[in-house]
Amino acid sequence: RIAFVNGQYVPHQSAAVHVEDRGYQFSDGVYEVIPIVDGRQIDGVGHVERLARSLRELRIDRPMSDRALNLVIEEVVRRNRVRDGFVYIQVTRGVAARDHGFPRDAQPAVVIYARPKAADARRKAAAEGVAVITVPDQRWTRRDIKTVSLLPNCLAKQSAREAGAYEAFMVDGDGMITEGSSTNAWIVDQSGRLVTRPASSDILNGITRLALMKLARETDIEIEERPFSVEELKTAREVFLTSASGMALPVVRVDDREIGNGRPGSVSSRVVDMFERYVAGSDTE
Ligand code: PMP
Repeated sequence: RIAFVNGQYVPHQSAAVHVEDRGYQFSDGVYEVIPIVDGRQIDGVGHVERLARSLRELRIDRPMSDRALNLVIEEVVRRNRVRDGFVYIQVTRGVAARDHGFPRDAQPAVVIYARPKAADARRKAAAEGVAVITVPDQRWTRRDIKTVSLLPNCLAKQSAREAGAYEAFMVDGDGMITEGSSTNAWIVDQSGRLVTRPASSDILNGITRLALMKLARETDIEIEERPFSVEELKTAREVFLTSASGMALPVVRVDDREIGNGRPGSVSSRVVDMFERYVAGSDTE
């Protein structure tokens, strides 16, 4: 298997970055995860655009054009023969003598690799639903930037694992849900509308979240963008989450509370089906 590191294709096993890479020392970098289904990128353009935005927000130079980036993405998928899996892209401010301020002449460092990941776990979770817990949101105030600074997210996910749950939904200081540690959070209200927090610096604007908004526009499903509370979450008719790796997954338990009858609800199941068709290509542009 091969990986792309700073302009070169190298064996995945020995693909490495320098000890003075600012991503390693300061989390001074950004990333994307692009799902691969049947050897094809899902929403590759959206992910590459968000990467460019994250870089811009942190004033990290773009390491290459989007076109060149896409060629490398396609190449790592092909060379690693990935049918189902993902591509990981990370760009940091580069390698420089340790100093918090930006280095004057560092080149951004780029890592791109692909990994296969079987789709069965996702399919099972989509069919049966998953459990989530709620935890305080301990992150900084620019959650719209997809930085590799993920420690609060890791702590939240680990709490979920230890509670036997799939995900942790994070709660802001006002008792409102921001998002999951690596997913966007949704509820279905009493009239069947999908409710999710509006895109702002409070959350990462998920590419899957955006895909669902676009898909919903072609149906009778309505979406309301507004924050919702823990209380509303626990008493919602249905709950589900979205992410590039899981697509849409019904949530059937929040903390100690069963959602609906503990089985995926009809609206969530419909959303899951919409994504199945979307990734199968029938609904893509
Ligand atoms: N929120 C956070 C904090 C995430 O890390 C992710 C996964 N990248 C998401 C939401 C979902 O975004 P996407 O649909 O682009 O995977």
